[in-house]
Amino acid sequence: MALYDYKCDGCGVRFEQNHPMSAPPVRICPECGAEKVRKILTTGGVSISGGSAPSGPPPCATGGCAGGMCGM
Ligand SMILES: [Zn+2]
Repeated sequence: MALYDYKCDGCGVRFEQNHPMSAPPVRICPECGAEKVRKILTTGGVSISGGSAPSGPPPCATGGCAGGMCGM
């Protein structure tokens, strides 16, 4: 099982759905019933929308690289 984030372009509701990777993605909005649900890509709980660059300091600045693996 994997947890996926979805957002409805119809009513704007955002929800999470747990289903196997082999299962088809959710397409129907549970709120308004519109077939405008799209999957939101997530990386570690941070949503990526529209391919814009992530804001905030790089992982290294917050110790995210765990021991200078990135050379910083
Ligand atoms: Zn909706």
